Amino acid sequence: MWNNNNNKTIYLDNAATTKVSDSVLEGIMPYLQNEYGNPSSLYKLGQSGSRAVTKARESVAAALNCAPAEVYFTGSGSESNNWILHDKNHVIMSEFEHHAVLHSVRGKTSLLPVYDNGLIKVEDLEKTLSENKDVDFVTIMTANNEIGTIQPISDIGAVCKKAGVLFHTDAVQAVGNIPIDVQKMNTGALSLSAHKLHGTKGVGVLYAKKGIKLPPFIYGGAQERGRRAGTENVAGIVGLGIAIEEATRDIEAKNAALLKKRERIYNEVMKIEKVRLNGDLSKRLANNLNFSFEGIEGEALLLQLDLKGIAASSGSACTSGSLDPSHVLLALGLPHEIAHGSLRISMSRYTTDDEVDYFLKELPPIVEKLRAMSPIWNNNE
Ligand SMILES: *Cc1c(COP(=O)(O)O)cnc(C)c1O
Repeated sequence: MWNNNNNKTIYLDNAATTKVSDSVLEGIMPYLQNEYGNPSSLYKLGQSGSRAVTKARESVAAALNCAPAEVYFTGSGSESNNWILHDKNHVIMSEFEHHAVLHSVRGKTSLLPVYDNGLIKVEDLEKTLSENKDVDFVTIMTANNEIGTIQPISDIGAVCKKAGVLFHTDAVQAVGNIPIDVQKMNTGALSLSAHKLHGTKGVGVLYAKKGIKLPPFIYGGAQERGRRAGTENVAGIVGLGIAIEEATRDIEAKNAALLKKRERIYNEVMKIEKVRLNGDLSKRLANNLNFSFEGIEGEALLLQLDLKGIAASSGSACTSGSLDPSHVLLALGLPHEIAHGSLRISMSRYTTDDEVDYFLKELPPIVEKLRAMSPIWNNNE
């Protein structure tokens, strides 16, 4: 058994961010060193940057099956979500969208329930659409960032199409993990983010179908067809182009390998008493598992895992340090005390079998130790 004697981080938090791939790093270096020209400049150095941005735009368009002119580079997945939502009047979305969606509507919001399997029902969408004639926008995330459940996106898109309402999907967790095709998904707009697919932080994409209304979001220069001003993040954009090509190649083979690891983790962790899996087991990303352990605080579990060099995440604390339970787990109908004790494991194509073994060896004694210390757990006995 591998012992992690060299204190390597066992990184099982790829839904939070991912490591930059070697080819991305290599591909962006020239744009951080010698090829530093401003893409808007007419001399050779500028045009080299401009060509690199064009090439990356083509790579993104190929990965999404859209036209390059429908790809807008942004500063993050959050920005893409904010941009498409900010001018809408009445938006239908699920209860467990990412906060960058939930918090960026200025108009009215109608929330669709999420059931205990982590999925919405298309009938609920149809009903809400028929009852609210003023709805001008629907947004449903392709895959959830905490529990990894995958929504029936093309069906949702078809319903919106029929109703004549623009449909957007936050695909930040999905791109690179499941096949994406904006035509098949019947979506008019989509958000993605480079750092979730082994690109760098601070660069995203908004796909917006030709002909939809897309007012400018940042005013100034003529970048991004006059809609999103600011000198391009050339290196980040080049990296995204490489990352998306790499991540969308051989998704099936990559997922087959991830599913084997996931099944092993699932089978072992479910042997621990009073543990539940959050979200449907099959309609979820191959890299994701999310468990709740009765009688245990998520934070305590993460700290203990961290002492063993394992980086994972809990739905129970958001980045602001709030101790509120996860809105995602509450949307599934979990009681507060259970929603506090969750553990999210998110793997990547770099996750090894040795790392999985090590995690599976370290987790059960930690759960046992924390339960032995827990007053809630003792009261259960
Ligand atoms: C990470 C994430 C975002 C935000 O992307 P950033 O590039 O970090 O702003 C939005 N939606 C989902 C589903 C995410 O997982």
